[in-house]
Amino acid sequence: MRTVTILGATGSVGTSTLDLVERAPDRFRVRALTANCDVGKLAAAAIRTHAELAVVADERCLPDLDRALAGTGIAVAGGAQAVCDAAALGADVTMGAIVGCAGLASTMAAIECGGTVILANKEPLVSAGDLVTAAARAHGATILPADSEHNAVFQCFDFARPDRVRRIVLTASGGPFRDWSLDAMAQVTPAQAVAHPNWSMGAKISVDSATMMNKGLELIEAARLFPIDPARIEIVVHPQSVIHSMVDYVDGSMLAQLGPSDMRVPIAHCLAWPDRMATPMEALDLVKLGRLDFEAPDPVRFHALALARAALDAGGAAPAILNAANEVAVAAFLAGRIGFLEIAAIVDDILQGYGPAAPETLDAVFAIDAEARRRAGERVEDCVS
Ligand code: NAD
Ligand code: MG
Repeated sequence: MRTVTILGATGSVGTSTLDLVERAPDRFRVRALTANCDVGKLAAAAIRTHAELAVVADERCLPDLDRALAGTGIAVAGGAQAVCDAAALGADVTMGAIVGCAGLASTMAAIECGGTVILANKEPLVSAGDLVTAAARAHGATILPADSEHNAVFQCFDFARPDRVRRIVLTASGGPFRDWSLDAMAQVTPAQAVAHPNWSMGAKISVDSATMMNKGLELIEAARLFPIDPARIEIVVHPQSVIHSMVDYVDGSMLAQLGPSDMRVPIAHCLAWPDRMATPMEALDLVKLGRLDFEAPDPVRFHALALARAALDAGGAAPAILNAANEVAVAAFLAGRIGFLEIAAIVDDILQGYGPAAPETLDAVFAIDAEARRRAGERVEDCVS
């Protein structure tokens, strides 16, 4: 029996995680569930799973949560610190499924408990990767990647012989605008951008997939997670999203992990690791699939890829700036305030105009993140006016 805490339990990944946990009541017991402010969904999940604690990050939603769970015996709390406190309770397995750098502090709190931390929430690894992985080493925590690409690499990577790995090849679907012209992309609406062809995901990551910033963030995430020279991490567009990524060895063998494009597969791998657990997914029907296609990503239409590669190469504060500026630009795009192509343009500007020293502490990361957000916010206002 493993205790499980889910940070970001009401989102796309959180819901998939709950689905698996609820199908295996003999394996998992829920400790804490957190959300930003979706009280209805959070309270219902807490009641169904007999959670010990339910937390809303937005303190204004606490009275509603309190009412929704009155008489159930489930403890409630509110505020960003309460989310960290829930993570710090410790669980055998903590799922980090908050969106954005907002998940950094609670991810660190979970890591400091030394259990298994499943990371779907990739932004903390981008902004503070070295600090996150160093904390995991220091506290004996195990980080398992739930991001489908990284989970695929994790399953194929020979950690005992990393020098025998020639390349990591991350696959990318190419998103909804894979074959659109730049002119057409300039007119894209938020509704079009969040309609991903293969995956059902939260709004932010869906926009990231459409700009391919998601693959850029994943490039940095892979460099943090796997012992390999970042120059040997490549990206290939694979529109069917059946191969989730590959590891290429010096002898010419390339290992791939295949599966349906449903996050429950990589999440189940992490929840049960090193064991395996059943999921409701059907076996892949290769004959029905018929073919798998591959193409190179277009660096002109997907400028975000080059920005992320440059931030990874520059190191220091650059990845945190890239991430923060992107979060602000994506939110502005989703709010209908800026155009689709302006997202990467804003990230590019902020990266070029702001070059603080490499952060050595979490507080330094938060300061860089805040300043990059402030600058990106100003740049958004320039676009709007
Ligand atoms: P989502 O928007 O569907 O859910 C986000 C969750 O975080 C919700 O529970 C929300 O209440 C909570 N949250 C939002 N802001 C918060 C804040 N300030 N403080 C505390 N909690 C907050 O997002 P998602 O699609 O589930 O993605 C979650 C993370 O997983 C992201 O980092 C994303 O990049 C990554 N990821 C998602 C998928 C996917 O298929 N959805 C795949 C791979 C990786
Ligand atoms: Mg992914």
